[in-house]
Order: sequence, then C-alpha cells, then structure tokens
Amino acid sequence: MNIQNILEIKNLHVSVKDTSIINGLNLLIKKGEIHAIMGKNGSGKSTLAKVIAGHPNYKVTKGNIFLCRDDITHEEAEKRSHKGIFLGFQYPVEIPGVSNIDFLRLAYNSKQKENHQKELDPLLFFNLINEKIKKIDMDTSFLNRNLNEGFSGGEKKKNEILQMSLLNSKLSILDEIDSGLDIDALRNIANNINNLMNSDKSILIITHYQRLLDYIKPNYVHVMNKGKIVYTGNKEVATEIEKHGYDYIK
Ligand code: ADP
Ligand code: MG
Repeated sequence: MNIQNILEIKNLHVSVKDTSIINGLNLLIKKGEIHAIMGKNGSGKSTLAKVIAGHPNYKVTKGNIFLCRDDITHEEAEKRSHKGIFLGFQYPVEIPGVSNIDFLRLAYNSKQKENHQKELDPLLFFNLINEKIKKIDMDTSFLNRNLNEGFSGGEKKKNEILQMSLLNSKLSILDEIDSGLDIDALRNIANNINNLMNSDKSILIITHYQRLLDYIKPNYVHVMNKGKIVYTGNKEVATEIEKHGYDYIK
C-alpha cells in the first residue's frame, strides 16, 4: 500500500496542567515533502513537536494525529518512534555513564526488533554506524564518548543528525536544530539533512530564523501563533518575516 499522507493532524488541542497551548491546529505532510514551522517564542512550536512524538506531559484534549493513516493520538512515545517518528531535540540531554555507541545500538535494535528486522551485534553495528558517521563528516571518536556529555552545542546537534540518519524514520522533526550554530556548522548540518532526505520520507523543521531555510528548501512554510497555524506559504514568507518581523503576517 502506497500511503502518501505521512503526517496528518486534525483539529488538535493540547494542554499542559490545564493550560491550553495548542488550539485547533491542522497540518498535512505528504511523502517527500519538507515543511517548516516558524513563529515567535512561546507560540507552541516545541510543544507541537513533543506532542507529535508522544511526550507524556502533554494532554491531547481534542483532535487526532495520524501517521500514515494510523491514529497515533494516544500511542506511547516509544511505539511512535518504532513506527517512524524521530524527534531531534532543541536541547539534547547529556547522559553521563551511557556511551554514545551503546545508546545508538540500543535505539537501533529496539526499532529493528519491533519491526521484525534483524538486530545487530556490536561488531556489525560498529560497521554500520561507522559508515553513517563518516557520511555526516563527524569524527568517530564521538562514538565512544558518553552521550552528549561535554559535547559543544554544534556537536550535540550533529549527534542528533547521526541518530536521524541511523533510524531512517518516515518523519523526522527537527526542533531548532540551527540554534547556537555558527554559519559553517549550520551549512554542514543543512547539507547533511538534505542528503538524508528522499522521496520516501518527510521532514518537519522548526526554526525561528530564516537562515536555515537558505540551505534547506521547504515545500511549505507555516507560521504559528498562539498554538495555531495562522499562515501557510512558500519559503518567501520566511524572507519577509526576517525583514519585517512576525507582525508582517497580520
Ligand atoms: P516555542 O517552542 O514556540 O517557543 P513552546 O511550545 O516551548 O513554544 O511553549 C509554548 C507555551 O507553552 C509557552 O508559554 C510555554 O511556557 C508553555 N509550556 C510549554 N511546556 C510547558 C510545561 N511543561 N509546563 C507549563 N507550560 C508549558
Ligand atoms: Mg521551542
């Protein structure tokens, strides 16, 4: 079955501790598309990303989320990840005591197992991850360090891209992957994201600066305000926002 709709969100309402944060949001992302969501601080972008990924602190009070037509609104985060949703964090956490390569292998194997695919032993996994890490131009020494511990901002973001590449998800959501990066690191991350994209999957990029979109060309740019998408356009919107600020949208 060839399903074109990767992610479909219908009339989504979300609250956290009785405060409503997302108020009637609709979104359709088809196979092979890159979508960008922009918006002021506090407009609900990260909340949306976390809700799509199944973060337990956020309560969906109304509406539905579908992944390839499968209703995942109330599915656990782990299940969603196995079904093909990857979330790259705005602030990746440091986990001392857990080596990066062990973490990556665990994540990979648990997805493989759930999908009845072959799991890899440490040796075979090393070959796979070695190939992936070289492709994104990241030093292999990061594999043996503890997960994100002492990584610079740019290195943490690169490690998120490594995970994205390894898990090869249907939908990758990247929340402010560009924050804190200098221009070279930004270009490098953007190139890697472009290389990982293909016609079988989709990417949702969250950013509040236009500059990332100079390198990654989205098919659609959505502007979020107060928990809703208030405008959808092409990438020219991002340029106008950069010039005139978010008030331009009104
Ligand atoms: P953005 O990513 O667009 O800057 P967020 O989704 O992070 O916005 O936040 C949207 C609003 O929801 C903010 O007012 C924020 O304080 C609030 N919010 C998000 N998560 C929580 C939480 N766990 N508890 C209380 N308020 C939250
Ligand atoms: Mg945010």
